[in-house]
Amino acid sequence: MASRREITLIPGDGIGPEVTAAARAIVDASGAAFDWDVQPAGLAAQASGLPALGPAVFESIGRTGLALKGPTGTPFGTPYRIEVGAHRMNPKPEPRVYPSVAIALRKEFDLYMNLRPIRSFPAVPSRYQDVDLLIFRENSEDLYLGRERMVDDDTAEAIKTITRGATTRAAKFACETMVRLGRKKLAVAHKSNVLKLTDGLFLRAAMDVAAQYPQIEARDRVIDALCMELVLAPDRYDCLLLANLYGDIVSDLGAGLVGGLGMAPGANIGEQCAIFEAVHGTAPDIAGRDLANPMAMILSATMLLKHVGELEAAARIERALTSVLERRDRVTGDLGGGPGGGTQAMTQAIIEAM
Ligand code: ATP
Repeated sequence: MASRREITLIPGDGIGPEVTAAARAIVDASGAAFDWDVQPAGLAAQASGLPALGPAVFESIGRTGLALKGPTGTPFGTPYRIEVGAHRMNPKPEPRVYPSVAIALRKEFDLYMNLRPIRSFPAVPSRYQDVDLLIFRENSEDLYLGRERMVDDDTAEAIKTITRGATTRAAKFACETMVRLGRKKLAVAHKSNVLKLTDGLFLRAAMDVAAQYPQIEARDRVIDALCMELVLAPDRYDCLLLANLYGDIVSDLGAGLVGGLGMAPGANIGEQCAIFEAVHGTAPDIAGRDLANPMAMILSATMLLKHVGELEAAARIERALTSVLERRDRVTGDLGGGPGGGTQAMTQAIIEAM
């Protein structure tokens, strides 16, 4: 019998517990053999007296090298600090402070690439039927790290850092992945007409890497023009490479092209660990009501399965999901489902279809 692999499961906040429970049940029914190490993090952990991101979470991911993570929230409008001390993947004794659990995990485990596929499903009501984009988002620097300060009561500023090293690493990952998948066109997004130093460096470093891959046709696109073209004609694009904050924003735009946030999966990948999570957040407006679309989390789980070589299990889940989407009766409301639909009914329907 094949040995069982261990995965860390972070249920998260808001709709997180519902959509991760769906993904877990579907993976378990797919034939892939996993043991789940459930680790609370975020506001849910704090509500039960634990730290938002305690040593047990680091210990677990450090051991398994793999996590399926639900969205984790931050309290709205109040300052929030995640303090992290030494752990086995980063033994630095000085505490590090982060603005969110997601950012802390990405930085502490050096998950330098955020991979976000945006793909249309014919049975999902959406603006376009032929979108197949692969978004490569640099995950370790840029404005998104939230390094801000008040200069005085009426002035705030944030630091945007771009380095050649981090950009080169992300661009290499993008190009290697494209070659492996046989994808040919890469658009590097930037605003170097204004941010000449930071985005200028990002663009130069990324293009230097792309130039080493003759099979890839790389071009640069100014971020605002790219957004407009994506909305008008997404089929003109294949793969996108973006700095952290632009990547965050364009991922949601991409999700909108294929039917909404419920559809977009993602992976945070480093040398030693990978954490799989949906693009969407905690959606507190629909939490706990059996309304959340579990598709983004299920597709994140299939990315995890592909990452560990469980290709047959991933294909089985995608086939079952496609057939449930086509029948439509048990899917969630955002997918066109009626009264018989919901998070749990959709999960059950996918399991039955497998
Ligand atoms: P956060 O602060 O954690 O980012 P948010 O509600 O501001 O949470 P998202 O969770 O990304 O941001 O979602 C924005 C809106 O999109 C939600 O309020 C919800 O209505 C919808 N939404 C997001 N994810 C889903 C989903 N999986 N299924 C259905 N609707 C969703």
